[in-house]
Amino acid sequence: VKGMQKYFPIQSPFGRTKGYVQAVEEINFTLYERKTLGIVGESGCGKSTTGRTLLRLIEPTKGEAIYRGKDIFKLKGKELLDVRKDIQMVFQDPHSSLDPKKRIGSIIEEPMEIHKMGSKADRIERAMDLLKKTGIREDQYYRFPHEFSGGQRQRIGIARALAVNPTIVVLDEPVSALDVSIQSQVINLLEDVQDEFNLAYLFISHDLSVVRHIADEVGVMYLGNLVEITSTDELFNNPLHPYTKALLSAIPIPDTTKKRERIIIKGDIPSPINPPTGCVFHTRCPYVMDDCKMVKPDLIEKDNKHKIACHLYN
Ligand code: SF4
Ligand code: MG
Repeated sequence: VKGMQKYFPIQSPFGRTKGYVQAVEEINFTLYERKTLGIVGESGCGKSTTGRTLLRLIEPTKGEAIYRGKDIFKLKGKELLDVRKDIQMVFQDPHSSLDPKKRIGSIIEEPMEIHKMGSKADRIERAMDLLKKTGIREDQYYRFPHEFSGGQRQRIGIARALAVNPTIVVLDEPVSALDVSIQSQVINLLEDVQDEFNLAYLFISHDLSVVRHIADEVGVMYLGNLVEITSTDELFNNPLHPYTKALLSAIPIPDTTKKRERIIIKGDIPSPINPPTGCVFHTRCPYVMDDCKMVKPDLIEKDNKHKIACHLYN
């Protein structure tokens, strides 16, 4: 993904554009085959918009997303349909993301039908197989979503995403709506099917402990900007960006021999309609310098393994 930006226009009552919600600001990242990239940040930081734009559920304002040599953002017709088969999404809310009027079997079968995969009998067989793989008994095939618990519904959502044999799955807060005891079961399932189906995950979450568990690499977003991106170990052991440090200071660490100072970030997240000039974090950063207010730091590579957007490291 190169320079991906998404601005939502704000219309006045007379239909004129009054301004823009600057949801995602020219971000760059790479999602590798069979790997998990976690995207973390507080609500409203642009992480869901990032996932949805990648799938073209919403159109980008600018940028590129190169997948197998082609720019997803330029595709039309059959080529776009093919990419939509390869990139699937699992949503946060297992209650609203499954059609309540449909039996779960047809919910899973539907994407195969759209993409004209196999005969009806093949599709039913595959749907039953996916139910079994995701931990739902095959004889539940003709039941409706409301007959299942939240965790089971999320399993059904995962089965639906797998139905068309994708290469990438965008998971937007996939366990945030579930009880903690159920979360780990669903995370384990996601890890199992990732191996079995050779999937790359874009794992969007505000929950750092979940991301730490599942991700190979993590990108931290703040106010539409990717401010740091590195391997999961590196991020949790050696966070560099002041915002990342503050985020991590708020979660308990398992190793009690290391003491971590709790960093409280002052103030609220500024509005994405009128974001700060220079570094977007400057209004809240404990290390702010004069330059930070004027000059926006680029995301630059440090030591080959850490990318960071902060003047302290430039
Ligand atoms: Fe803080 Fe300046 Fe770094 Fe922004 S660029 S995070 S304001 S030190
Ligand atoms: Mg979100």
